[in-house]
Amino acid sequence: MTTMPDRPAAVARTCAVLGCKATSTDPAHVVNVAPAATLPYRVPICTAHRSSLDEGAEWFAEETSGERGRPGVGIVTGDELVARRLVVAGEDEVGWQRGGFTPRLDPDRNFGVLHVEGRVYGCDDRACLDLVLTPDVVRTLRSVVRLYDAQLQDAQQQ
Ligand SMILES: [Zn+2]
Repeated sequence: MTTMPDRPAAVARTCAVLGCKATSTDPAHVVNVAPAATLPYRVPICTAHRSSLDEGAEWFAEETSGERGRPGVGIVTGDELVARRLVVAGEDEVGWQRGGFTPRLDPDRNFGVLHVEGRVYGCDDRACLDLVLTPDVVRTLRSVVRLYDAQLQDAQQQ
Protein backbone atom coordinates (compact mmCIF):
# COMPACT_ATOMS: atom_id res chain seq x y z
CA MET A 1 0.00 0.00 0.00
CA THR A 2 1.27 3.44 -0.87
CA THR A 3 0.52 6.63 1.01
CA MET A 4 -0.23 9.86 -0.75
CA PRO A 5 1.89 12.82 0.30
CA ASP A 6 -0.03 15.71 1.87
CA ARG A 7 1.12 18.03 -0.86
CA PRO A 8 2.20 17.25 -4.40
CA ALA A 9 5.94 17.50 -4.97
CA ALA A 10 7.03 21.00 -5.92
CA VAL A 11 7.37 21.32 -9.68
CA ALA A 12 10.19 23.45 -11.03
CA ARG A 13 8.74 25.94 -13.48
CA THR A 14 10.74 28.19 -15.76
CA CYS A 15 10.72 31.88 -14.82
CA ALA A 16 8.38 33.86 -17.08
CA VAL A 17 10.85 36.71 -17.51
CA LEU A 18 11.99 36.67 -21.15
CA GLY A 19 15.51 35.30 -21.47
CA CYS A 20 15.65 34.01 -17.88
CA LYS A 21 16.56 30.34 -17.55
CA ALA A 22 16.13 30.16 -13.78
CA THR A 23 13.34 28.06 -12.32
CA SER A 24 10.98 28.50 -9.43
CA THR A 25 9.76 25.69 -7.21
CA ASP A 26 7.88 27.94 -4.78
CA PRO A 27 4.18 28.09 -5.82
CA ALA A 28 3.98 31.50 -4.11
CA HIS A 29 6.59 32.93 -6.47
CA VAL A 30 4.20 34.16 -9.14
CA VAL A 31 3.20 37.46 -10.64
CA ASN A 32 -0.27 38.35 -11.90
CA VAL A 33 0.06 39.50 -15.49
CA ALA A 34 -3.66 40.14 -16.08
CA PRO A 35 -5.03 43.68 -16.01
CA ALA A 36 -6.70 44.63 -12.73
CA ALA A 37 -10.21 44.51 -14.24
CA THR A 38 -9.97 40.89 -15.37
CA LEU A 39 -9.46 37.50 -13.79
CA PRO A 40 -5.94 36.96 -12.47
CA TYR A 41 -3.43 35.09 -14.61
CA ARG A 42 -0.36 34.15 -12.61
CA VAL A 43 2.94 33.12 -14.11
CA PRO A 44 5.96 31.69 -12.24
CA ILE A 45 8.93 33.89 -11.48
CA CYS A 46 12.38 33.09 -10.06
CA THR A 47 13.60 34.39 -6.70
CA ALA A 48 15.89 37.03 -8.21
CA HIS A 49 13.19 38.49 -10.45
CA ARG A 50 10.62 38.26 -7.69
CA SER A 51 12.86 40.48 -5.53
CA SER A 52 13.49 42.97 -8.31
CA LEU A 53 9.76 43.31 -9.08
CA ASP A 54 8.99 43.57 -5.34
CA GLU A 55 11.50 46.42 -5.19
CA GLY A 56 9.49 48.26 -7.85
CA ALA A 57 11.27 47.38 -11.10
CA GLU A 58 9.16 48.33 -14.12
CA TRP A 59 7.78 45.50 -16.23
CA PHE A 60 4.99 44.58 -18.55
CA ALA A 61 3.59 41.31 -19.83
CA GLU A 62 3.84 40.28 -23.44
CA GLU A 63 2.14 37.41 -25.21
CA THR A 64 4.63 34.86 -26.55
CA SER A 65 4.29 31.69 -28.56
CA GLY A 66 5.10 29.72 -25.40
CA GLU A 67 7.18 26.57 -25.13
CA ARG A 68 7.03 23.37 -23.16
CA GLY A 69 7.00 24.25 -19.47
CA ARG A 70 6.82 27.98 -20.15
CA PRO A 71 3.57 29.95 -20.25
CA GLY A 72 2.53 31.90 -23.35
CA VAL A 73 3.14 35.13 -21.49
CA GLY A 74 6.58 36.64 -21.05
CA ILE A 75 7.60 39.34 -18.63
CA VAL A 76 9.68 42.11 -20.11
CA THR A 77 11.83 43.94 -17.57
CA GLY A 78 15.34 45.32 -17.02
CA ASP A 79 17.63 45.72 -20.03
CA GLU A 80 15.05 44.14 -22.31
CA LEU A 81 12.65 46.94 -21.41
CA VAL A 82 15.22 49.64 -22.10
CA ALA A 83 16.13 48.03 -25.43
CA ARG A 84 12.50 48.16 -26.55
CA ARG A 85 12.07 51.82 -25.64
CA LEU A 86 8.41 51.25 -24.99
CA VAL A 87 6.08 53.83 -23.63
CA VAL A 88 4.73 53.69 -20.11
CA ALA A 89 1.28 55.20 -19.93
CA GLY A 90 -0.08 56.50 -16.68
CA GLU A 91 -3.80 56.50 -16.10
CA ASP A 92 -4.21 60.21 -16.81
CA GLU A 93 -2.12 59.96 -19.94
CA VAL A 94 -4.57 58.01 -22.06
CA GLY A 95 -7.50 59.72 -23.69
CA TRP A 96 -9.73 59.64 -26.72
CA GLN A 97 -8.55 61.87 -29.48
CA ARG A 98 -11.46 61.20 -31.79
CA GLY A 99 -14.49 58.96 -31.64
CA GLY A 100 -15.17 56.99 -28.52
CA PHE A 101 -15.95 53.51 -27.49
CA THR A 102 -18.96 51.64 -26.15
CA PRO A 103 -19.74 47.93 -26.48
CA ARG A 104 -22.60 48.88 -28.84
CA LEU A 105 -20.29 50.61 -31.28
CA ASP A 106 -20.82 49.30 -34.77
CA PRO A 107 -17.44 47.98 -35.90
CA ASP A 108 -18.34 48.45 -39.55
CA ARG A 109 -19.01 52.12 -39.28
CA ASN A 110 -16.93 53.39 -36.40
CA PHE A 111 -13.36 53.82 -35.45
CA GLY A 112 -11.56 55.82 -32.85
CA VAL A 113 -8.18 57.25 -32.11
CA LEU A 114 -6.76 56.56 -28.69
CA HIS A 115 -4.17 59.09 -27.68
CA VAL A 116 -1.42 57.85 -25.36
CA GLU A 117 1.19 60.02 -23.73
CA GLY A 118 3.97 58.49 -21.78
CA ARG A 119 7.60 58.21 -20.90
CA VAL A 120 10.10 56.10 -22.78
CA TYR A 121 11.53 53.30 -20.65
CA GLY A 122 15.09 53.83 -19.54
CA CYS A 123 15.06 57.64 -19.87
CA ASP A 124 12.87 60.66 -19.24
CA ASP A 125 11.96 61.30 -22.88
CA ARG A 126 8.27 61.92 -23.45
CA ALA A 127 6.45 60.09 -26.20
CA CYS A 128 3.01 60.43 -27.78
CA LEU A 129 1.19 57.82 -29.76
CA ASP A 130 -2.11 57.91 -31.58
CA LEU A 131 -3.50 54.40 -31.77
CA VAL A 132 -6.02 54.12 -34.57
CA LEU A 133 -8.72 51.64 -33.69
CA THR A 134 -9.70 49.96 -36.92
CA PRO A 135 -12.97 48.01 -37.29
CA ASP A 136 -11.12 44.77 -36.43
CA VAL A 137 -9.76 46.30 -33.24
CA VAL A 138 -13.18 47.69 -32.35
CA ARG A 139 -14.64 44.20 -32.83
CA THR A 140 -12.05 42.72 -30.44
CA LEU A 141 -12.54 45.50 -27.89
CA ARG A 142 -16.26 44.98 -28.02
CA SER A 143 -15.97 41.30 -27.09
CA VAL A 144 -13.50 42.12 -24.30
CA VAL A 145 -15.85 44.75 -22.86
CA ARG A 146 -18.77 42.31 -23.03
CA LEU A 147 -16.72 39.75 -21.10
CA TYR A 148 -15.83 42.39 -18.53
CA ASP A 149 -19.49 43.45 -18.27
CA ALA A 150 -20.54 39.84 -17.70
CA GLN A 151 -17.92 39.39 -14.96
CA LEU A 152 -19.05 42.60 -13.31
CA GLN A 153 -22.70 41.54 -13.32
CA ASP A 154 -21.79 38.09 -11.92
CA ALA A 155 -19.83 39.77 -9.13
CA GLN A 156 -22.73 42.09 -8.27
CA GLN A 157 -25.21 39.23 -8.09
CA GLN A 158 -23.12 37.35 -5.52
ZN1 LIG B 1 13.96 34.98 -13.59
